[in-house]
Amino acid sequence: MSTANACMRVSGIGVDVIFKDIKNLHIGVYPPFGRVRVAAPERLTEEAIRLAIVQRLPWIKKQRDRLQNAERQSAREMVSGESHYVWGARLRLEIVEGPGRTKIEIAGSKLRLCAPPGADAERRRHVLDAWYRKQIKGAMPDLVKKWEPTIGNKVNGWTVRRMKTKWGSCNPKSGRISLNLELAKKHPGCLEYIVVHEMTHLRERAHGDRFTVLLDDYLPNWRALRDQLNQAPLAHEEWSV
Ligand SMILES: [Zn+2]
Repeated sequence: MSTANACMRVSGIGVDVIFKDIKNLHIGVYPPFGRVRVAAPERLTEEAIRLAIVQRLPWIKKQRDRLQNAERQSAREMVSGESHYVWGARLRLEIVEGPGRTKIEIAGSKLRLCAPPGADAERRRHVLDAWYRKQIKGAMPDLVKKWEPTIGNKVNGWTVRRMKTKWGSCNPKSGRISLNLELAKKHPGCLEYIVVHEMTHLRERAHGDRFTVLLDDYLPNWRALRDQLNQAPLAHEEWSV
């Protein structure tokens, strides 16, 4: 089975294409950001694939809208009893009101958020986000130290922020990488995969064959980690071409 990859943009939407020894073309729209991934028969040209995607654009856009709505509906109220994830573990939020500094601690399966009385959901969310950011920042030095010798490029710094459409990004010129705050909710292996992926961009900018070869070499199980991050496809279509 071939592992040739292509990355194309169709009407402003980034599409990952993987060529496989298959008969039909598959299109998947993946949570949480609506990434579009296509598995295509090897005999198809990029132009034929582009055409097939263009024909399916209304369907793709509908799936992406659905995803964004689902994301909004799952917005948390930040009250006791809610489930929140930390490094892949599901914890129950416990709000403790009292004077003093806001803080967060993990006690067994509880995620305890101490805040002054009257702190509204927005304020509590802000406290939790700052804590998530701290978790990732705390994990980064070891990860960078672990991977710099293997990848052979230096990371000059990193930022952790809310990103709407991706898990990470990299500026090869400045040597800086950005990481999505949401990674603190996933299994630690997912953060490592994104860090390795972005650090690989310091050597190879595009998602071409060379990029895949490097990634396969560094982190042979990266596909499983990527799938864990993006979960099952929200929607999937297949048709003959
Ligand atoms: Zn990338």
